[in-house]
Amino acid sequence: MSAGLTFEVFTLFPAAIESFLAGGLIGKALTQELVAVHCTDYRDFTHDRHRTVDDTPYGGGAGMVIKIEPVVAALEAVTEERGPMHRILVTPSAPRFDQRAAERLAKLPRIGLLCGRYEGIDDRVRESYVDECLSIGDFVLNGGEVAALTIIEAVARLREGVLGNPDSVVGESFTLADHGPWLEHPHYTRPVAYRGHEVPKVLMSGDHRAIGQWRAEEACRRTWALRPDLRPRQSVGERLACVAILPGQAQDVLGDLLRCLRQKTDLPLAVICKRGAVEGAELVELRARDLKELRRRVRRSRQQAPQVVALVDGRSGPGCVDEPSLLLDLLEIRAGEEGGRPLVLLVSLGEELPQGVDAVFAPLSSSPLQEGLELAQSAQMIESSQPKTATGVATLVAAAIRRLRHPQSP
Ligand code: SAM
Repeated sequence: MSAGLTFEVFTLFPAAIESFLAGGLIGKALTQELVAVHCTDYRDFTHDRHRTVDDTPYGGGAGMVIKIEPVVAALEAVTEERGPMHRILVTPSAPRFDQRAAERLAKLPRIGLLCGRYEGIDDRVRESYVDECLSIGDFVLNGGEVAALTIIEAVARLREGVLGNPDSVVGESFTLADHGPWLEHPHYTRPVAYRGHEVPKVLMSGDHRAIGQWRAEEACRRTWALRPDLRPRQSVGERLACVAILPGQAQDVLGDLLRCLRQKTDLPLAVICKRGAVEGAELVELRARDLKELRRRVRRSRQQAPQVVALVDGRSGPGCVDEPSLLLDLLEIRAGEEGGRPLVLLVSLGEELPQGVDAVFAPLSSSPLQEGLELAQSAQMIESSQPKTATGVATLVAAAIRRLRHPQSP
């Protein structure tokens, strides 16, 4: 039987690869022939008495460089003997290997991993003899063997049959789940209390819905706290347009909210309302009887381009825009005029959730969680707290605007 996935490792240290692979689940997968790993030593493709694989760098400088001839000879010999492969050079000067790359590589039948040593391999190998280059992180190792093993393990465990329980890979950190490539929720096992450290009670409740919600919430919190870089990015220009949709009941606090927002962001503010009055005298107000008029007014207001727009969503009375889809129309207008899609913040979850929202402020502990998570596929963030006051909402909205405009900031 031939293995479903074969790795061909090119190295100066085959023993380092072979000894690591002897144990654990990968070792078992090798025995069961689910995966195969062949190692090829560059030295076997040299022709001098000393089996020389390296030479001094052109242009001078410290260190030695692995020569092109033994590397290409090794590649060609293995290709001829066992067939073609997807060739990967492991090197720090490359895009980062991650879970997406592992998932992509796990679909291939044969993968070649070329390990460097010293200053690396003659760059003509990168230029002409490999399909891609991968780095396992922003640090420098002495050789490519650990990088190759990292790739082998991350890729092989995604192949069917390699892990005892196939569900183990579902929902793991960095796996693209419904809500994005987040970190996984925490895990606990017996005893229930250890030196006063207790397991969260919900996990012992037997209520699978509550457990699911708790896990999703924890995954979200962890990701946001520990890996803010995993938040979906969006290039937001200086002429950012934000639309905050407020639920009907937030109408009462709209005036306060806008006043607070104004203090907290440096962006000009405007209110767009279909009809009726909105408190907040200092603000630019665009009022319109219907969508057509609203569009016209938005266009006309380009000179003073309202960049933060509070769109009152509500089925609850005058002064509100009834249709969430109106929001999308507005977005289209502004996208067309300003050459970029505006940012949409949804404050609280209404019964009907408009699509295309970038940020959601949702009470994660309440029932709309699921919708919130679904929405988060296209959303930038979910806040775990539901602000109670206009100042609370304004603080969150202002913080979100800051984060979205400067994704690297904490
Ligand atoms: N001079 C190289 C540089 O500064 O980019 C570093 C060479 S390193 C000492 C020797 C070999 O280790 C590389 O050719 C590569 O195969 C491997 N290596 C080192 N760090 C790596 C990383 N972060 N990812 C993948 N391979 C790495």
